[in-house]
Amino acid sequence: MSTCLVTGGAGFLGSHLCDELLSRGHRVICVDNLETGSLVNIEHIRDEAAFAHLNVDIIEPYRIEEPIDFVYHLASPASPIDYLRLPLHTLKVGSYGTHHTLGLAKSKRARFLLASTSEVYGDPEVHPQPEGYWGHVNPIGPRGVYDEAKRYAEALTMAYHRQQGVDTSIVRIFNTYGSRMRPHDGRAIPTFLRQALGNRPITVFGDGSQTRSFCYVTDLIRGMIALAESGYHDPVNIGNPDEFTLLQLAETVLEVTGSSSEIVFEALPVDDPKQRRPDISLAEQLLQWTPKVSLRDGLARTIEASGVETLVG
Ligand code: NAD
Repeated sequence: MSTCLVTGGAGFLGSHLCDELLSRGHRVICVDNLETGSLVNIEHIRDEAAFAHLNVDIIEPYRIEEPIDFVYHLASPASPIDYLRLPLHTLKVGSYGTHHTLGLAKSKRARFLLASTSEVYGDPEVHPQPEGYWGHVNPIGPRGVYDEAKRYAEALTMAYHRQQGVDTSIVRIFNTYGSRMRPHDGRAIPTFLRQALGNRPITVFGDGSQTRSFCYVTDLIRGMIALAESGYHDPVNIGNPDEFTLLQLAETVLEVTGSSSEIVFEALPVDDPKQRRPDISLAEQLLQWTPKVSLRDGLARTIEASGVETLVG
């Protein structure tokens, strides 16, 4: 049994990670100030002896008294609605928060995993995106607060590894979905599900020809733990390479929900990437990891696990 610290453990991905680590027999300490997360996400595990939640803001220095084997660093606003509302917080959590968490991993001699993002590739000129692509990011646009915070956090992680000898890893997460996403968090899948299940028009940005690839949460968490438990240090993409246009996603949501909502088109947000798809050959070769859940199956599982009322919000 290992002791795992999960920053952002009361969020969407963090709470699924806590569930999986507990089910594998590990002790889990969740550090989360509930800025964008919720106690509801960890309600079902709060009383387990192997689980503890600490309401701590990691932008300030923090200490944990007991030994720790793994640090999973997920805390950060993640959806555009959140980081556009919290631009300075997003930059501080990526910088000070990552410093404090790396310092903690160093003092505990723990293996550290940074939850980075496909947004480090920006609006890519290379498709699909391999880890060796350095990206095409607008540092001063509104989304720069998130993209650059993550790029800085990656640089910091590599510096702690190279200069301080910390055992680090970096996962570049591509769009992931599943239960516990907030219906109003602005990301495509919860928005489309909320609209379809509420029989309201589905709002597609632009002409809907921009592409994304969507990974079901259980696949992502499996890949993330496999990377943390490997000895690898450079970034690794984890995501589902099946690529869909936003219009195809809207049509699939209509099919799976059986909704008769109409599809309407709205203006594209600033710096919205035109295409996004991971090259996952490194994860396949290094971790023997591939995603298993198709989009249709994952959408059906999301509806079943969440319940229609929760998704309609
Ligand atoms: P989320 O908003 O649901 O979870 C983030 C959690 O971090 C929340 O519980 C929040 O309260 C906590 N947090 C924020 N600031 C904090 C602070 N200062 N101190 C302590 N806790 C703090 O987001 P998510 O979708 O679960 O994303 C988790 C991580 O994965 C993020 O780092 C995000 O960048 C990364 N990621 C997610 C996706 C995705 O598709 N969901 C894609 C790429 C990367």
